[in-house]
Amino acid sequence: MIFGHLPAGYITSKLLLRKCYNDSINPGAFMFWGLFGAIAPDIDLLYYLLIDPFEPRNHHHTYVTHLPIFWLTLLLISVFWLLLQRNRGKNQATFFIFVLNGFIHIVLDTLTGHIFWMSPSMDNAIFWIADTSAETNYFTHWTFALELLLILWALTEWYKSAIKKRAKRNNPIT
Ligand SMILES: [Zn+2]
Repeated sequence: MIFGHLPAGYITSKLLLRKCYNDSINPGAFMFWGLFGAIAPDIDLLYYLLIDPFEPRNHHHTYVTHLPIFWLTLLLISVFWLLLQRNRGKNQATFFIFVLNGFIHIVLDTLTGHIFWMSPSMDNAIFWIADTSAETNYFTHWTFALELLLILWALTEWYKSAIKKRAKRNNPIT
């Protein structure tokens, strides 16, 4: 997946914010870290393109930032941190949304690309729906519809919250 990560991060952050909002959470920071988490695994592309371009056997999905075990470990830590603290502050919430969206990135990547779910063993990479790595034109492959779906869903969420904000501004008493 290429274009669906940010929209997916926006949707998850928005839905969680709506469901779990409390006074200790800063909505702006929550959304920022949520969106950052949604693209954080692809930071390895910088390393792949700038430092490791002459190693053709490597794919950026082999780096630690694309290994499910890395994000699952962080997810476990973030859940424990949430459970341990009585007053769920903004640090726990922002760390949780960052890690959750990072993990969702890996799940979405597995739909159309190879991910090493059995890591640390790097023997088998799996995909769940279709392998698009050899596609010459990704935009005409049917799985691109999944990306469009996420973009449309995110736009719908954004539109709904914009309408809500406008209504609140026009009628601050309600
Ligand atoms: Zn990725």
